[in-house]
Amino acid sequence: MSGAIAHDDLARDGAPVSHRPLGILAALPEELGDLVDAMRGEAGVRTITHGRRDYHLGTVYGVPCVVTLARVGKVAAAATVSAMIHAFDVEAVVFTGVAGGVGRDVRVGDVVVADSLMQHDLDASPIFPCFEVPLLGVSRFAADAALVAQLSAACERFVAEEGADLAARFGTQTARVHRGLILSGDQFVASAAAVQRLRDALPDSLAVEMEGAAIAQVCYEYDVPCAVVRTISDTADAEAPETFTNFLRQIAGTYSSGILKRFLMGRSGV
Ligand code: SAH
Repeated sequence: MSGAIAHDDLARDGAPVSHRPLGILAALPEELGDLVDAMRGEAGVRTITHGRRDYHLGTVYGVPCVVTLARVGKVAAAATVSAMIHAFDVEAVVFTGVAGGVGRDVRVGDVVVADSLMQHDLDASPIFPCFEVPLLGVSRFAADAALVAQLSAACERFVAEEGADLAARFGTQTARVHRGLILSGDQFVASAAAVQRLRDALPDSLAVEMEGAAIAQVCYEYDVPCAVVRTISDTADAEAPETFTNFLRQIAGTYSSGILKRFLMGRSGV
């Protein structure tokens, strides 16, 4: 593939207008919800395979988007978002999915919008400070403030409108929306001792997952705004493998669909 695949259009006066698409990613298919179906129902989907990923191009709720699955882990996420930037010229990136709860008042069914992200398993000390990305001098990557505000508003609306139903369906308490630090690393965290180590090292962390900070680092290096929203599927303890699997199968898609619908409608003004 050569060059970027742009979503070009013609304005009414005939002047070319470039609609740079929004990149939307998740690790696993359940975490994308109905996004690709929604795209299919709108103006159709063009699918391009690149680097073993299928990139779906079209519009969702009126917003030009490229949607794909990054798969699991930091390398997979970094490679995918890099392709989104270079091959599809995205103007911004949003990552959606599930995560383990780390903050003491973060419960299964809650939603966390990252205001910053860091790699909890990155440690090149004593050469560089623990958690700092060597030669970049950054350990916490900030999410884009405007995207964070729009995503948080979408999450609040989603929880207000559908939270009670969801809590009844999955047997959780009514969901709350948190905003703060999300940790990423190449481990599925599944023990009380491991959660405690994360809390001790990074007391303000709310959630742990395996992709977000990698996305944030690549976006930082290319000056592309990004944001990450995660629904809490488990509390990263010994029950996590089972809770995560059930949550993913039963309800993760409903969260992603509901949050992204409100977020995209807000962007397009629909
Ligand atoms: N075998 C699983 C692998 C998923 S790993 C499968 O393919 O179904 C867990 C995924 O959910 C990762 O993408 C990660 O970002 C997120 N996640 C949810 N709970 C997590 C936890 N406790 N620790 C780390 N990542 C978690």
